[in-house]
Amino acid sequence: MHPFVPVEQAEGYQQVLKKLEKQLTEITGFAATSLQPNSGAQGEFAGLMVIRKYHESRGDHHRNICLIPSSAHGTNPASAVMAGMKVVVTKANEDGNIDVDDLREKAEKYKDNLSALMVTYPSTHGVYESAIREITKIIHENGGQVYMDGANMNAQVALTNPGAIGADVCHLNLHKTFAIPHGGGGPGVGPICLAKQLVPFLPKNPLIDTGGKDGINAISAAPWGSSLVCLISYAYITMLGENGLKKSTQYAILNANYIKERLKGYYETLYTGERGRAAHEMILDCRPFKEHGIEVVDIAKRLMDYGFHAPTVSFPVAGTVMVEPTESESKEELDRFCDAMISIRKEIDEASKDEPDNPLKNAPHTQAMLTSDTWDLPYTRKQAAFPLPYIQENKFWPTVRRVDDAYGDRNLICTCDPIEAYMEA
Ligand SMILES: *Cc1c(COP(=O)(O)O)cnc(C)c1O
Repeated sequence: MHPFVPVEQAEGYQQVLKKLEKQLTEITGFAATSLQPNSGAQGEFAGLMVIRKYHESRGDHHRNICLIPSSAHGTNPASAVMAGMKVVVTKANEDGNIDVDDLREKAEKYKDNLSALMVTYPSTHGVYESAIREITKIIHENGGQVYMDGANMNAQVALTNPGAIGADVCHLNLHKTFAIPHGGGGPGVGPICLAKQLVPFLPKNPLIDTGGKDGINAISAAPWGSSLVCLISYAYITMLGENGLKKSTQYAILNANYIKERLKGYYETLYTGERGRAAHEMILDCRPFKEHGIEVVDIAKRLMDYGFHAPTVSFPVAGTVMVEPTESESKEELDRFCDAMISIRKEIDEASKDEPDNPLKNAPHTQAMLTSDTWDLPYTRKQAAFPLPYIQENKFWPTVRRVDDAYGDRNLICTCDPIEAYMEA
């Protein structure tokens, strides 16, 4: 459907989009939703522009300080700067949680110019911070609004919500929490949901009547963002219903804690809540393996030999992996993943700095390498390609060995011939 088709010719879409807005509003405990932003980061920008406009509507044109905890996702400070704000970073304590005293001190120090706090809940460290309500209260007492980064909403849906913790606006990543397939730059939808006082400032569109009565300018060209992929989230929410959504959240949390418990003694989980549990994800510390000469990237590459795409590497803490199983993996798959990680841990213990030829450093192992006439590595081909029995049943063959991660990012390499090559002689 073309985004500027006359509204009366898209009545089906109108119904679906209205219902989806209503569902997301209810899920977040807020008053309204805009589907316009096309990614989480764009949602952050939209939400902060709404906060800015809210302050301006009250004559507070000078409010431009945005507090952001040091554990935040990189998009948070980037969005704040784009929205014309000045970023002030607040500290984390040794448990990785927001240092509430430091936050209070900074909120009070900047109270005359405080615009917003951006806070991720549960945190990027995979922990429900128990001080969250106190944190949002401190911000409100000092004249600011609370932007909750909702990328971790998978750990909240139908159990709690941003409205309940005292936030004023959040974005959701429909491509994370609400079933839109993503990765490799696939389509994103990053709607913002917001509290009553912010509703008048919802983003408008110059051609189609949508948004708040004093709305900010359009955030993306299309009035309802990526409406086609919104259908996926609409179907997911509608078919699961409240109980199904709650089950999804519970399974996401259960699956993460199952992995955490099974990997205990093999990998240390960097941060946990006060009761020793993770939220829907956990950070596994791989830094101690440096004494065997093993880096986190070696583990990520070796996972390919075991048939897994590696989880997030080196974010939010360098030298770690962050595992977020979600609700959608079966127990068998979780067990295969844990078996692979435990087997890799044994390989790490056998590795040493003095012998660089080990299965981790050489991973991934390609078919070409394994079927060549010569094999002079100090471990067997079987150990390279089929280190566990389950792999025999469903082998994934990596097609290339390693590329230099950072080099490719920094050096543009053109693999196509120049136009002259096509010229006829
Ligand atoms: C993914 C993510 C974002 C950004 O979302 P995009 O859709 O990738 O722009 C922001 N914050 C957190 C915590 C995230 O995990």
